[in-house]
Amino acid sequence: MGSEAFKELLRRRDRYDISLLLLPEREIRKAYAKYENAEGIKIVWGDLYDKSSVEEAVTGTNHVLHVAALIPPMADKLPKKCTRTNYDGTRNILAAIKKRTEIGEDVSLVYISSVAVYGDRLPPDHTLKVGDPLRPSIGDVYATTKINSERAIIESGLRRWAILRQTYIAIPNALTLMDPIMFHQPLNTRVELITNQDAGYGVVQKLEAPDEFYRRVYNMSGGPRCRVVYSDYLDRMMRIFGYEDYRRLFRRNWFALRNFHCGWYADSHLLNNYLGHWRQTLDDHYTQVTANIPFSLKVGTKIGPEFLVRAYLKRMADPLKWIERDDVEKVKAFFGSRAAWEKISDWDTPLDSEDLEGPTVQQQKDYREDFPKTIEGMTALAATRGGRCNSSEYVDDSTPLKWSCGRNHLWTASPALVRAGHWCPECSPPPWDYDAVAKVDPLIAKYHYSNHSHDERQKVMCLYEDEE
Ligand SMILES: [Zn+2]
Repeated sequence: MGSEAFKELLRRRDRYDISLLLLPEREIRKAYAKYENAEGIKIVWGDLYDKSSVEEAVTGTNHVLHVAALIPPMADKLPKKCTRTNYDGTRNILAAIKKRTEIGEDVSLVYISSVAVYGDRLPPDHTLKVGDPLRPSIGDVYATTKINSERAIIESGLRRWAILRQTYIAIPNALTLMDPIMFHQPLNTRVELITNQDAGYGVVQKLEAPDEFYRRVYNMSGGPRCRVVYSDYLDRMMRIFGYEDYRRLFRRNWFALRNFHCGWYADSHLLNNYLGHWRQTLDDHYTQVTANIPFSLKVGTKIGPEFLVRAYLKRMADPLKWIERDDVEKVKAFFGSRAAWEKISDWDTPLDSEDLEGPTVQQQKDYREDFPKTIEGMTALAATRGGRCNSSEYVDDSTPLKWSCGRNHLWTASPALVRAGHWCPECSPPPWDYDAVAKVDPLIAKYHYSNHSHDERQKVMCLYEDEE
């Protein structure tokens, strides 16, 4: 997304100077060497968690496009580094911008958040909108860094911010996505993807957006024409790579049954109305992948014979390892129980019998209109979470109010934050304790119990080893 945004900025150099904060890694240095002394381009070599390089990059800019993050699968393996990069890095950007705005300069910030903040939303709960509760999947530290960063931005007092909850960004070089994480994702997951080109184009389009665009959270995707079910996506990819039926390469019980993320947005058109980034479709993405496969595959050679590829994929299938090692917490999180895993049938029964097309015309309105801008409105909003608003006066969307959750934690938060699906900081993970939270929070319960039973009990601080 970042490099595509840069390409888009290059096309608009007559209107904008560019300041880049880039990691001083060999590959990146090589790719950007030709811009080092170019007119109107400033390159700062550094890292998000280094305050001075962030400040240097932000100095002199009017718009900050924060697209950087450490993402899964790497984020799962390096949770501490993920928090440093994603959360501390965002706070460094905020601090650098605030220094500027204090002396009266006008700087806007766009932050790329993630669909992962909604957590597990399998059918029939696969339609997402801003305002839905934030319920990151168990063990997903990456999603918690996005939630905390959102909170820091919304509560920062900054005048011009926008948060884009980005969907899965589909890249042409699909072979690089072959990773054990592909098995953490249930086969019936709904995805509304975006191509990397449209993601980069969209974030740059924001530079032209009017003032009313700001102080708001959006869902970002390529729109209804980019919707797909994961099993169909996998099948199509395997066909592009020369195999006839993905079911001959995979067994069904290699894939998790729950605890991932993604879904179909009911409100992604609200962002497209401003940015006009819905340019490419799912078919365009398939065409790009086909154009990018190695030459040998194009002339009919396969990556390898079916039995070898199958063995290779099987070795990658994390769930099999969890079962084999009897990793109780992961099996619980992704399957419910070992017995539930054992009950998974193979391909003879259909994946989804329901008709789950979803509306192609998205009707969802601005989430900020869901509750009136009064104390009564905030009381009603808190009630949806099984909690209370304890303030007596509503000032405006950004003035903090007092709240309490169903477990009697107390905190303050602006209406803007709570409207966007944020709730009690003490109840939000880590630890992941949804079986307890769902008992007092009706919105968490609504999604949690659609694929958890009432007698399940899991509370975990983390799921993965830190490999740092
Ligand atoms: Zn709480």
